[in-house]
Amino acid sequence: MTMNDRFAPLMPTAARPPAVMVRGEGSYLFDESGRRYLDFVQGWAVNALGHCPPELQEEVTRQAAELLNPSPAYFNAPQLELARRLVELSGLHHVFFCNSGAEANEGAIKLARKWGRLHKDGAYRIITTENSFHGRTLATMAASGKPGWDEIFPPPVEGFRKVPFGDVSAVEEAMDPETVAIMVEPIQGEAGVVVPPEGYLQGLAEVAERHRLLLILDAVQTGVGRTGSLFAFETEGVRPHILTLGKGLGGGVPLAALVADEGSSCFEHGEQGGTFNGAPLATAVGLRVLETVAAPSFLKGVRDAGARVEKAVRSAASPIGVQEVRGRGLLLAARLAEPVAEEVRDRSFEMGLLLNAPRPDLLRFMPSLRIRSEEIEEMEGLLGQACREVGSG
Ligand SMILES: *Cc1c(COP(=O)(O)O)cnc(C)c1O
Repeated sequence: MTMNDRFAPLMPTAARPPAVMVRGEGSYLFDESGRRYLDFVQGWAVNALGHCPPELQEEVTRQAAELLNPSPAYFNAPQLELARRLVELSGLHHVFFCNSGAEANEGAIKLARKWGRLHKDGAYRIITTENSFHGRTLATMAASGKPGWDEIFPPPVEGFRKVPFGDVSAVEEAMDPETVAIMVEPIQGEAGVVVPPEGYLQGLAEVAERHRLLLILDAVQTGVGRTGSLFAFETEGVRPHILTLGKGLGGGVPLAALVADEGSSCFEHGEQGGTFNGAPLATAVGLRVLETVAAPSFLKGVRDAGARVEKAVRSAASPIGVQEVRGRGLLLAARLAEPVAEEVRDRSFEMGLLLNAPRPDLLRFMPSLRIRSEEIEEMEGLLGQACREVGSG
């Protein structure tokens, strides 16, 4: 059987290199031929503690022997404990667990629409931003500002209006009596790690306050320590009405959360749910991740490592010209002087370094939050070589 025959049963939804991954350990991934890769993608910022961290192995094994799923019709202990910690740490009041970031955002959209029906004369429209990414369900695709996304599966779900990211006054101009909420990422991830101007979130919070709108923060990519603070908004003195978390929260198992404050949490029995939601396996793992990441010394480690990665990237990519290295904590991107990011990514892959190239001129770095100095040095060496080869080729 050729490799292509072997891959054929899968729907071709993504371009993937012809390697089959079989094992992970910390910052390293191994394919079935035994090749080792230094992983600066980590499942798209999912494996917050790296591949197969010992405490999550222990938690999965322990919980799997105890209780996998009593059904969402009953409470379970890990779900209650994780909800309690999320409420405590976020300053919000109620949690709904789900299995993906898209599902959390879909829930946030439903919650905002319900709130609009109850408290704002049926207002339902949500202002989102250009180039944003909120997921791949029909509604979250419509909410996303990825160019062309409203034309793939017509008709698009109605009720979203896009404004430029980083521009508070554009939100006020786009508002109308039907508007119920503003939904943004604290830092746009898939758009290429776009950091908004200082005071942006605060400005949005003020607009929301003034016009009685809900502020929804999609921290699916930025939350759970990725940016060096727990949720990526609290350092700006802002508290959203609704917060969505995913990716890193499960440390590699499917887990996401919709978190809301008292005023906006208005689901009643039967209006939201799901077969796997809040099952103890995922929530027990999420609790271990959250307890680890929330420690102040851990978050300081993320910020320090981020500064080292930034310096390493700047130096390694200099042969092809670096316009800027942007981002926060361990969510970083390098904008290159030439559109050669995919070439650099492919050359790095061949040398055993996994990188993501979200745009033709952009490389993104999302290593384990536990990345070690030696691993950052190794990345610098490999990336430097890839950049020299691409630069001279
Ligand atoms: C990845 C991502 C999502 C979607 O999460 P899935 O788990 O892939 O559904 C939503 N919002 C942001 C900001 C993301 O980065």
